[in-house]
Amino acid sequence: MSKTKGYAAMTSKAPLAPYTFERREPREHDIVIDIKYCGICHSDIHQVRDGWSDYLEESIFPMVPGHEIAGVVSAVGGKVSKYKVGDKVGVGCFVDSCRTCTSCRSGLEQYCLVHTSWTYNARNNEGVPTYGGYSDKIVVDENYALRMPENLPLDACAPLLCAGITLYSPLRHWHAGPGKHVAIVGLGGLGHMGVKLAHALGAKVSVLSQSLKKEADAKRLGADHFYATADPETFTQLKGSFDLIVNTVSAQMDWNQYLNLLKVDGTMVVVGLPEKNIPVGAFALTAGRRSLAGSAIGGIRETQEMLDFCGKHGVTSDIEIVPIQKVNEAYERVLKSDVRYRFVIDMASL
Ligand code: NAP
Ligand code: ZN
Ligand code: ZN
Repeated sequence: MSKTKGYAAMTSKAPLAPYTFERREPREHDIVIDIKYCGICHSDIHQVRDGWSDYLEESIFPMVPGHEIAGVVSAVGGKVSKYKVGDKVGVGCFVDSCRTCTSCRSGLEQYCLVHTSWTYNARNNEGVPTYGGYSDKIVVDENYALRMPENLPLDACAPLLCAGITLYSPLRHWHAGPGKHVAIVGLGGLGHMGVKLAHALGAKVSVLSQSLKKEADAKRLGADHFYATADPETFTQLKGSFDLIVNTVSAQMDWNQYLNLLKVDGTMVVVGLPEKNIPVGAFALTAGRRSLAGSAIGGIRETQEMLDFCGKHGVTSDIEIVPIQKVNEAYERVLKSDVRYRFVIDMASL
């Protein structure tokens, strides 16, 4: 076992504070990663505050959050073939899965039919709690690590490991590209990656944000149009406009209003994970043969494809670097939608 420094919430809703814990010794196929940066995802806040208690079997405290992990390989197990010491690598939202079910065999480990071992607030295949990236190192099987783009700064690539893949996967699955009009709802960590990626894929992109405050930013990120959802006129004007809506909002909202903005055969993909159920009216779907769908992150193969795509197209996250001592303040700012557009913890501050 090796001693690891990090930050943890000791109980639900407690602020994060310094915490020391043990990581396993590397096994034959494990790599040890010296963590340089970790993004702050809104999911970290939901989980630290036990906000998904209606959906999760259990929340595990002390909780070391963090699943946008970027670092450098510092040691490798005897049978590791994919990485060597010094490689720039990443870890996203999961660190293992059953490896044999139909989902795992199709590269969809996040939809493992047996057990996906999430990076934190979960148990690995042996039932041992997992601890995330707000820490100085992590030990992970080489098959669940990612190679980071060589040509891009590591700090600005950390958020690709959750925010990036969470938008890339549905944009690809529902064929965002030339001739398609995509709406991104909510311009936060996920949303701003959605704008950049949909634009890089060649789609026409509109942003639906609560107010017009972020309009100039959105246009700089690649949006063609920008609308405030606080203005009821937006929902009249945009009726039947979009082939695809990707909804990243973390809070309760009226999904029916947004479904009405889809073209015939359009799809709204929910990626935001509000803490309570949201009612959907049958008429919002039957009118226009519309679909309401959901999507969770992406598998290892697709995450690597996304990282390579970002390397090729120069896509990174717009980040604000914070020392780990400021993590609780950063959480408060995320909750106020006051992040431009992802906080990334500089682990050197530990
Ligand atoms: P974030 O940075 O806080 O962005 C969420 C955005 O939603 C905000 O910036 C804001 O955009 C909008 N918003 C917030 N409160 C709202 C409200 N009451 N009404 C309308 N809009 C509101 O969060 P994030 O890290 O992007 O994560 C977003 C959600 O996705 C979270 O629930 C997270 O847990 C979930 N998530 C899901 C997956 C997945 O695999 N499906 C992966 C990662 C995260 P505007 O200021 O533009 O209105
Ligand atoms: Zn996340
Ligand atoms: Zn599986």
